[in-house]
Amino acid sequence: MLVVRTIAELRTAIQENKSKQEKSTVGFVPTMGYLHEGHASLMRRAAAENEVSVLSIFVNPIQFGPNEDLDRYPRDEQRDLALAENCGIDIVFLPSVEMMYPQETKTKVVVAQMTASLCGASRPGHFDGVTTVVSKLFHMVQPDRAYFGMKDAQQVAVLQQMVYDLNMSVELVPCPIVREEDGLALSSRNVYLSEDERAQALVLSQSLQLVQEWLAVEPVLTTAALADRIRTYINGSPLAEIEYVEVVAFPSLQPLAASFPMSERNTDVLIALAVRFGTTRLIDNRLLQAVQ
Ligand code: AMP
Repeated sequence: MLVVRTIAELRTAIQENKSKQEKSTVGFVPTMGYLHEGHASLMRRAAAENEVSVLSIFVNPIQFGPNEDLDRYPRDEQRDLALAENCGIDIVFLPSVEMMYPQETKTKVVVAQMTASLCGASRPGHFDGVTTVVSKLFHMVQPDRAYFGMKDAQQVAVLQQMVYDLNMSVELVPCPIVREEDGLALSSRNVYLSEDERAQALVLSQSLQLVQEWLAVEPVLTTAALADRIRTYINGSPLAEIEYVEVVAFPSLQPLAASFPMSERNTDVLIALAVRFGTTRLIDNRLLQAVQ
């Protein structure tokens, strides 16, 4: 496994790896590091499905708001490199902020509408930072496939729209959410949780699990009733502070009417949650397949 820190080294490394085989595809996994089994599932898949696999680790300042956790975002380069090697990654790109942004970027990639709701509502500018850095990374790596976790379902939808609108020649591969044994979705931010918060954080995955049971008994539950039940369940946990509970069409992220019965969904439906425990913000979601 090769570790590179400059864009020039990255380009050379990819060219050299590609030229080892006549026909080779490049699989790319962009991350912010502090890697866990969720990231590992993406890396293993990128390594298995492509001749050349590239991981990037970059805590991207422009996707953090002024009062967010940029300065305390967890980092462990040595552990990350060991896990990447174990997953079969060929090239790790570890750029500095100066390498990615030698000056304040005057160019931004902005996906409209879909970034105004859900996480975009409470994190203004966040998705502009994501689409801008992912575009930059796509230009540097020129991957055939890029792997993203459905843990960040809105991010997947927004990036798919960007790739479509800008005719980027990369296939986005959405990958399933990896969870702890008790259901908590893996996240680099889980380390911020106190013992009590960690225990109560289970209400996210539990409420999403209950949706299945509620719909089995009452398939005609409306969007509003479903969201209400989830809110009530989460509010049963005293440390939980709900930021949003949303039921929207996927991947358009269009809202569904409050009175819309779930049994009539003819698109996939995303149930997305953001809940704060103290200063830690957790997200989770579940995708319901279209009925018709
Ligand atoms: P991050 O380092 O948080 O920016 O995440 C990098 C990539 O890993 C993103 O595509 C995430 O959606 C994905 N990811 C993070 N957590 C998980 C998880 N629990 N399961 C699957 N993918 C994940």
